Amino acid sequence: MIASNYKDMLQEKSVIRELFGYALNRAKEIGYENVFDYSLGNPSVEPPEEFTQTLLRLLQETDPMILHGYSPTLGIPSVLEKVARSLRDRFLLPYKAEHIFMTTGAAGAIAHAVRAVCTPGEEVITFAPFFPEYRPYITLSGAVLKVVPPDLSAFQIRFDLFEEMITEKTAAVLINTPNNPTGVVYSEDTLKKLAAILTKRSKEYGHPIYLISDEPYREIVFQGVTAPYVSSYYKNSIVCYSFSKSLSLPGERIGYIAVNPACEQGETIIQMCGQISRGIGHNCPPSIIQLAVAETIMLTSDLSVYERNKNILYHELISLGFSCVEPGGTFYIFPKALEEDANSFSLKAKKYDLCLVPGDSFGCPGYFRMAYCIDTEKVNRSLTALRSFAKEEYNR
Ligand code: PLP
Repeated sequence: MIASNYKDMLQEKSVIRELFGYALNRAKEIGYENVFDYSLGNPSVEPPEEFTQTLLRLLQETDPMILHGYSPTLGIPSVLEKVARSLRDRFLLPYKAEHIFMTTGAAGAIAHAVRAVCTPGEEVITFAPFFPEYRPYITLSGAVLKVVPPDLSAFQIRFDLFEEMITEKTAAVLINTPNNPTGVVYSEDTLKKLAAILTKRSKEYGHPIYLISDEPYREIVFQGVTAPYVSSYYKNSIVCYSFSKSLSLPGERIGYIAVNPACEQGETIIQMCGQISRGIGHNCPPSIIQLAVAETIMLTSDLSVYERNKNILYHELISLGFSCVEPGGTFYIFPKALEEDANSFSLKAKKYDLCLVPGDSFGCPGYFRMAYCIDTEKVNRSLTALRSFAKEEYNR
């Protein structure tokens, strides 16, 4: 018998992918430059030149049997060392290689982390609006996803509702800062409150509630904003990192898990990840890419375009009367739609060749996401379309 849980997923549509597909087709009709596609979170800048040079050097100088061979289950030891050192140097926590596990991006990291700290039937809490892929990462592990309704005023955390949702079955809490889709960075105050609640409730229930921190946008933080390092606030934290956005390498599928050195059973969790890999068959990320990111770990792509685009869009949206929390990082913005139904809003936007993602799939109806990882020149040209859309459809 084929697996109904996966088969049923075929009926679910990814609104983001659909819009992206629509934009591709529309581009064939009117030209790529005339479609203002804000649908997909694909980085719009190239990886740094040093990354390309590192790959070339590795190809020329490294023993092909190592370069193209299987990596050890947990990752290449020298790579684990370099990741640990980078975290130690930046965040002043005593990371060692034993605290790191190499993964296929943040997706692989979260899928492993959830399986390591939850048994089927236990609960993972996250906060709306949230990255829609959290649902399959969590539910297909057998765990139950619970979603705390959004704090619409600032997109921080509704602690009153959160506290009500924690139960004895809560095994983990999953956060994402800087956040997709809001672009908001959790404040130090938010992290302190979160840590205090988790510490108290872990004690009450007699088992740790792990904090899984999804951090693919850690490096994309705008001027005047600091992104506090989550693990500095809570002992039982597990960072899920990705090089997809910081080094513009989403296709290389590379990231890591870093357990807090003080995490309860942290080193066991890392060892267990090796076993989880065996179970889900998602093991040993490519050796060559592990080696290349380890060499360039302190670099990023030129991320400045994202802040430039944010400034342009945020100011335009505000002047058009949109209600919108200003992003502190990432390449997303999440304004309130100009009508209650964000799907209908998004449908109307298509008439102006604007691809805007309704917030429903992020657990936040009535809002929409713009992924502004596109050329600034195009962002500027899209403003005319945005103005016509707001004026003609909503009299703004
Ligand atoms: N988490 C968030 C919040 C994301 O936005 C993404 C990708 O867009 C991922 C996880 C998955 O990242 P990766 O491509 O590294 O698997």
